[in-house]
Amino acid sequence: MDCLFCKIINREIPADIVYEDDQVLAFNDIDPKAPTHMLVIPKKHIATLNDISEDDLALVGRLPFIASRLAKEQGFAEDGFRVVMNCNEDGGQTVYHIHMHVMGGRRFTWPAG
Ligand code: 5GP
Ligand code: ZN
Repeated sequence: MDCLFCKIINREIPADIVYEDDQVLAFNDIDPKAPTHMLVIPKKHIATLNDISEDDLALVGRLPFIASRLAKEQGFAEDGFRVVMNCNEDGGQTVYHIHMHVMGGRRFTWPAG
């Protein structure tokens, strides 16, 4: 499949992987917007948030769970962090394989731009 993140999962494209299990992969964003900026993705290809089915709920639930675990391990969970999932064009999605941005190490403003 011609999907950048599937290629990272399949080790066809290198990435700085920080976590992996049988269902989920996490790696550092190539263009970080914070001192720590990771992407947590399901190994199953799901193009957008609009494509999540009932069968995917446990899998997708692992994304914030692993995000929090990584934040704790890396020491910024208590200070706080930002998770973002962009959907389609207006949401700013550029890679069509769902991913949770996990950003920490600085203070974020709200609302997002
Ligand atoms: P989106 O804009 O879809 O919400 O987020 C896609 C993210 O993927 C962006 O933050 C972008 O920097 C990141 N990204 C794009 N290409 C690559 C790549 O080849 N490797 C890594 N590690 N991140 C990438
Ligand atoms: Zn994919």
